[in-house]
Amino acid sequence: MFFNPSMPIVSLHTPIEYLKGIGPNRGDLLRKEMNVQTYGDLINLFPNRYIDRTRYYKINELQNTLAEVQIIGKIIHIKTVEFGKNQKRLVATFIDETGQIELTWFQGLKWIRESLKLNEVYIIFGRLSEYKNQFSMAHPELELLEEHQSNLRSAMQAVYPSSEKLSQRGVSNRVISKAIQQIFIETKAQFSEPIPSSILHELKLMPKGEAMFNIHFPKSQNHLARAQFRLKFEELFFIQLQLITKNSIRKHKIKGHPFEVVGHYFTDFYNNHLPFQLTEAQKRVIKEIRNDMGSHAQMNRLLQGDVGSGKTIVALMCMLLAKDNGFQSCLMAPTEILAIQHFSGLSELAKSCNISIKLLTGSTKASERKVIHEALEDGSLDILIGTHALLEEKVKFKNLGLAVIDEQHRFGVEQRAKLWKKNEIPPHILVMTATPIPRTLAMSLYGDLDISVIDELPPGRKPIQTVHRFDSNRLKVWKFLKDEIAKGRQIYIVYPLINESATQDYKDLMDGYESISRDFPIPNYTISIVHGQMKPAEKEAEMQRFASGKTNIMIATTVIEVGVNVPNASVMVIESAERFGLSQLHQLRGRVGRGAEQSYCILMTGFKLSNESKIRLETMCRTNDGFEIAEVDLKLRGPGDILGTQQSGVLNLKIADIVKDQEILIQARAYALSILKTDPQMMNPEFKIMKEVFIELSKKKSIWNYIS
Ligand code: ADP
Ligand code: MG
Repeated sequence: MFFNPSMPIVSLHTPIEYLKGIGPNRGDLLRKEMNVQTYGDLINLFPNRYIDRTRYYKINELQNTLAEVQIIGKIIHIKTVEFGKNQKRLVATFIDETGQIELTWFQGLKWIRESLKLNEVYIIFGRLSEYKNQFSMAHPELELLEEHQSNLRSAMQAVYPSSEKLSQRGVSNRVISKAIQQIFIETKAQFSEPIPSSILHELKLMPKGEAMFNIHFPKSQNHLARAQFRLKFEELFFIQLQLITKNSIRKHKIKGHPFEVVGHYFTDFYNNHLPFQLTEAQKRVIKEIRNDMGSHAQMNRLLQGDVGSGKTIVALMCMLLAKDNGFQSCLMAPTEILAIQHFSGLSELAKSCNISIKLLTGSTKASERKVIHEALEDGSLDILIGTHALLEEKVKFKNLGLAVIDEQHRFGVEQRAKLWKKNEIPPHILVMTATPIPRTLAMSLYGDLDISVIDELPPGRKPIQTVHRFDSNRLKVWKFLKDEIAKGRQIYIVYPLINESATQDYKDLMDGYESISRDFPIPNYTISIVHGQMKPAEKEAEMQRFASGKTNIMIATTVIEVGVNVPNASVMVIESAERFGLSQLHQLRGRVGRGAEQSYCILMTGFKLSNESKIRLETMCRTNDGFEIAEVDLKLRGPGDILGTQQSGVLNLKIADIVKDQEILIQARAYALSILKTDPQMMNPEFKIMKEVFIELSKKKSIWNYIS
């Protein structure tokens, strides 16, 4: 074939507006709405789902349970109907030999009216709605039968992600599908194959070009399944290549303080001051951390452990190691109450260790602050515990060697990076989380962090019994609480205060407080209350009253969610439990079950529950296992949500699903690992295209952005 200079050269980099059927206006829309800039972007816009277009319905077969249907028939009548003020819609009567339905349009009336042909055979497709036994279809896709037969078709028709604007402005699913078809024609569907041929053969993967074609125009179910597998594998494979490379660069290039000595402080504590025997899991994790910090690389480790698994003492022992090596440490917690608890807990644990520990929060007085700043800078302060206040400019360590961050999901990436910038050589970082993330997810999200897991609870804990009760049974629940109080136990009653400023939430809490005060009257019962609108000092005082056993009942909002430790509290009542997320419910429940007594969690709700709420409640009643709960949560909400908005968009997957495709992820990771192990630079000629794609993706940096 001759090269024709007058023909524009199209490639996957060609801007989208050059595509036949798109043009500048639609091009603009696609850019804004779908972030589709080029041919390549559009062809990589993968369908959400597929519909069976082999099935045709007769009008008398229609039922309102059918969501989308395809019918063959004719338009016999068109009229414009006015409704409301200056509002118009177009209504067409569509018939087949068994009956009639209405087709309606609300936008683009003029253009549509002109293009509709009466008494010609159309295939229509769309979502049915029913009103007074009359079916109608709004903004149907319609195509003349003739045209339909000449188009590229497959039994399963792709349905693409869309937006309201796109469909309003006529960029329908059919337009997208045709545009993609056009790309295949114009580019002659030349796709280079980025997956090394050895993997391709071993896994019998569908070649790239064939997979791209079948993902858009599947020839059969089987072709589609193979195309999906291949493209998911490819996506996850490249993410793993990136994460693993990044991790090894960090290990080789980023120097850390080598904590080579296991000295007096650690050994003395271990031999003489341990308040209990460590669990095997705690020992193992401490060993992993010690190995890490003892090497010359900087540690970046995620410590996962269910609520109550004993992460605090692990943190302390790591800090003692830092001290043994002449370094300071800090521990950062997300809330003031938690920071205070950590401070008192660690001070208690370390009371005979002869090290200095201080607390710094937003409410630390200026004079005390000054003392802390000085002690930090001259090195006489060993451990600083606090909130975000630790990140302020003025807080300068003489030699920060270890930063422990509790409850990682509340801290953004930049915040961690701030800590990191405090010293020339970065401190070791230990991120502790009680929101267990399923291992495979952790692997894909934190592939550049190492992970330690405490998968064992201290001995002697009785599993918490969890029940779901309707509000109408409240009297029975109150009776139960009174019995528990009579046995000397204490009780939490938690109200949702999802939005600290929402007055309705606040009112619910206060109403609850009033009615409980009536049902549990003084002097037989004493009640504490803690919520977000109180001053930190007031909150702390109330918490202390409860912790020291002066009050029987603690009414609170989710401020007590994390960390709070009152072993004598044995019942957790959660009001409007349907309004809480699973991980929050699990965290709240973790406030009880800390002592030797049998503990209970009572989930109160009204009768009206969504399906999702029912699953959450049922899961809570079934299991105490944080990992199992996290899996369910993940399935209900998706990974972005689990990590909170701060980190959503970390993984921007086009086709793979981190929950459903865990098997593929594991496989992809294994292959990526084995390639990088033997050929970290990807120099083998077999990897040429793979490496190009890898470099291209690294430039985009859109996949993740962790400390670096
Ligand atoms: P979390 O992992 O939720 O932060 P904590 O560190 O607060 O858990 O520990 C929960 C409770 O368990 C604390 O009261 C702590 O003293 C206790 N604990 C921790 N480890 C052990 C152990 N090995 N044996 C007995 N009790 C332990
Ligand atoms: Mg804790």
